[in-house]
Amino acid sequence: MVSTPSAYPIIDHDYDVIVVGAGGAGLRATFGMVQQGLKTACITKVFPTRSHTVAAQGGIGAALGNMAEDNWVWHMYDTVKGSDWLGDQDAIEYMCREAIPAVYELEHAGVPFSRTPDGKIYQRPFGGHMRNFGEAPVQRACAAADSTGHAILHTLYQQSLKYNAEFFVEYFAIDLLMDGEGCRGVVALDMATGTLHRFRAHQTVLATGGYGRAYFSCTSAHTCTGDGSGMVARAGLPLQDMEFVQFHPTGVYGAGVLITEGARGEGGYLTNSEGDRFMERYAPTAKDLASRDVVSRAMTMEIREGRGVGPEKDHIMLHLEHLGGEVLYQLLPGITETAKVFAGVDATKAPIPVLPTVHYNMGGVPTNYMAEAIDPKPGKPENVLPGLMAVGEAACVSVHGANRLGTNSLLDLVVFGRAAALRAKDIIKPGTPHRPLPKDSADRALATLDRARNANGSMTTAMIRKNMQRAMQNDAAVFRTSKTLKQGAEKMDQVAQSLKDLKVSDRSLIFNTDLIEALELYNLIPCALATIVGGEARHESRGAHAHEDYPNRDDQNWMKHTLAYVDDKQKVRLDYRPVHTYTLTNEVKYIPPKARVY
Ligand SMILES: Cc1cc2nc3c(=O)[nH]c(=O)nc-3n(C[C@H](O)[C@H](O)[C@H](O)COP(=O)(O)OP(=O)(O)OC[C@H]3O[C@@H](n4cnc5c(N)ncnc54)[C@H](O)[C@@H]3O)c2cc1C
Repeated sequence: MVSTPSAYPIIDHDYDVIVVGAGGAGLRATFGMVQQGLKTACITKVFPTRSHTVAAQGGIGAALGNMAEDNWVWHMYDTVKGSDWLGDQDAIEYMCREAIPAVYELEHAGVPFSRTPDGKIYQRPFGGHMRNFGEAPVQRACAAADSTGHAILHTLYQQSLKYNAEFFVEYFAIDLLMDGEGCRGVVALDMATGTLHRFRAHQTVLATGGYGRAYFSCTSAHTCTGDGSGMVARAGLPLQDMEFVQFHPTGVYGAGVLITEGARGEGGYLTNSEGDRFMERYAPTAKDLASRDVVSRAMTMEIREGRGVGPEKDHIMLHLEHLGGEVLYQLLPGITETAKVFAGVDATKAPIPVLPTVHYNMGGVPTNYMAEAIDPKPGKPENVLPGLMAVGEAACVSVHGANRLGTNSLLDLVVFGRAAALRAKDIIKPGTPHRPLPKDSADRALATLDRARNANGSMTTAMIRKNMQRAMQNDAAVFRTSKTLKQGAEKMDQVAQSLKDLKVSDRSLIFNTDLIEALELYNLIPCALATIVGGEARHESRGAHAHEDYPNRDDQNWMKHTLAYVDDKQKVRLDYRPVHTYTLTNEVKYIPPKARVY
């Protein structure tokens, strides 16, 4: 029997602010909102400390200057350059300036950073972070050994508890509540009891993380399924710059698990089958610490030209053994363990086999630097959508542009999580009554739920998901051509259409993982479509988008953000909006595009 939307009883809740997601971004936003006196609840599909932020290893970037002279303006310059001039310079300025107080705030909140001999926060070098406008690498990544994300996430969760933030744990947000004016909240399923909840809020903050799971091999958790982007797409709103997907140079070969860039920061280096340290040829100054797109492409070039390692000549070696056991156990204990478990290698004695693996999504929900969601209208590219914010990897603010620098994501989480709270304080008066919702406000969510619950076709979620992951892995990869992108877009269209043939076997509502995975697939598909269709249209190479038929960056025609609208029939419409090439203050000037020099 097909149930109608009215078949579900709904439990109502009213808040000033609802935050969806309890990773670094969601938690920083949550307790920031409570600090501002706003009645706030955080909804999360996994227990907060299980969010993917817990896996971040290498560090959080801030020009503290603890190891050598540093300056937030240099940090800003590196970030604009790393973004390949697609990043919004006002937002980048805000982030790099706020980085310094943000890291001290974390320190005071209790993050157990590693220390220098004189007790300061320890900082290591990371790819693309340089001193004096690109002169030489600088140690800017503030690290808690190689488990910085773990340390930060746990501290932020403790802070949230200290401020008595309310949590709805293992609640799955299905869809946004929208009316003619904007976003009014969210509808969520309590996975344990199967009850439906309607949360009304003056601001809804999406902090749902990335969508690495659209690909076959990725470093991100199984929960990274782009749920925020899926909800936004279904609400008819755009996703921005989704074609920019970062491959991390060092995923463990065969497993995808990450070996932090901090390993190269501590002196690790890559070799090909001839034992050649090839990065010296591709990036003579930054070498193994060139930005991630440069290193990933260099590794792929070596493999393509027959200098890959192993019987299949299909991977590269990462050497840490020369660093010695003491350094590895003290500064990189987690990845020494990872190498043992996932590659069967004792990193103190032998190199680790690695391969570029999907790591980060630069694209997401477009926002301004105050975390407000943007819904461009003709002649108004900066139009704010009332009631909706996005922070963290789910958002595209855009501080990472076409390519994120390592350590800038953990930074983005705390800086913009806090910015969301500051902005909310300005626009919400605590306890303001809610306008009545339109009668049909929950219909979209109920229809999404019903569609999954009653799906009675012939293909399981796992089958459709694998088809999507293969298409994305093969055709929206490190190197792209017009042919592969076209082929990939056609394959993805077929995959998206096959959703009509989805089969969900478990019809219950209580801890129904079959149902939840189907809902996640509904969210992954628009992310994948926007990625490949946006990539096919972008006729240039910029940052992580390396297009062999258009090998150069084309600032004349393509220095603009892509907007992708994915409709109910899973068809993509593209539009564009300008990059912010202006800064917030006069302290720094606009950084003009230059030739790529690394
Ligand atoms: C292995 C690894 C190592 C990394 N190392 C670094 C590093 O050293 N430095 C750095 O700067 N960056 C690093 N990154 C990137 C960075 O960690 C991530 O971009 C960042 O942690 C994402 O945080 P987030 O808060 O946006 O989302 P996440 O931490 O992914 O959290 C998402 C949250 O949203 C919730 N959620 C999602 N969908 C729903 C839904 N439908 N309903 C309810 N809740 C939902 C989840 O429960 C979760 O709480 C790394 C990433 C990986 C994968």
